[in-house]
This record gives sequence, structure tokens and C-alpha cells, in this order.
Amino acid sequence: MNPVKKIVLVIDMQNDFISGALGTKEAAAITPRVAERIQKEKEAGALLIFTRDTHYENYMDTLEGKLLPVPHCIKGSEGWALDSAIAPLAEGEIIIDKPTFGATVLPELVKPYVDKDTEFLFMGLCTDICVASNALLLRAYFPGNKICIAPDCCAGVTQESHDAALLTMKMCQIEQA
Ligand SMILES: [Zn+2]
Repeated sequence: MNPVKKIVLVIDMQNDFISGALGTKEAAAITPRVAERIQKEKEAGALLIFTRDTHYENYMDTLEGKLLPVPHCIKGSEGWALDSAIAPLAEGEIIIDKPTFGATVLPELVKPYVDKDTEFLFMGLCTDICVASNALLLRAYFPGNKICIAPDCCAGVTQESHDAALLTMKMCQIEQA
């Protein structure tokens, strides 16, 4: 595998975070922009990686379920599926099903595609949980690579937590693009 110039990470653009159990109007509002941006990055030759939050019937017994008692993204359900505007763009691309906020497999998975000039771009949901977790995960693994986030292609649980997460990421040298 050869290194690529850009890796675009599209985090958890699933029905449950847009119109389902944990949906918000902000998430619905960014979805067309996310689709547009993915298309643009795809045409420019970026490597695309999509993640899906993935839980099972035992969700309420997990720590996440105890602290957030709202079942969501149960594997195989409609809520777990990618949004209908996003799903066609993910066909044939890498999709990671992750059982928690950060995709622990991500750093090793992208490593063969990364050299010193490779840039990462994050978008998706939610800014303050899964986007931040994975951006900081890659920040730790690839301290010399440019990592960006597209703020207008992300939404948080609340506007305040979205803004706070952007600031935290900025302090960790995750740039806005
Ligand atoms: Zn979850």
C-alpha cells in the first residue's frame, strides 16, 4: 500500500445520531454539507474511511449504556445504518464498526497509507464525543502529521459542547479546514 496525501474520516453519520434516538436538528442540518464535502474530497483523490457506532442488545449493561441510557446504533437496526445521503458515498470504501467512542483499530489501519506529508480531515458526529476521541487518538499516534476538522461538517450534542470540543482540539493542534 502506498501513502496517500489525504485521509478523510467520516465519523458516525448514522440515522440514530441524525433523525433517530440521539438525533438533533444540528446533525440534520450538516448532513447535506457532509455529503457534498465527501464527494469533493473523493474527486480530489482522498482515501475515505467511515465509522459506525456499533452496539448490541446488551447496550444497557455497558458503561456507555449506564451513563447514557438511550439505546442507539444497535447493529443491523435502521438507526445503525448510515444516513441515506451518506451511504452511497461509503460504498466500496473502508467502513469501521467501532464498539466505543474511539476506533482503537484506526491507527494501525491507516498506518500503511501515512507518510510525513499525509493529512487527516475529520467530519461527522458528534464533535464532542466520537469526532474528538478519534481526532485525539490520531493526534497521539501521528504527532508530526497535519490533522484538520471541518467545523461546519460536524455537530455536537449541544452547541456549547461542540464549541468546547473545537477549542480543545485546536489547543491540541487540530486545525480547522
Ligand atoms: Zn454509542
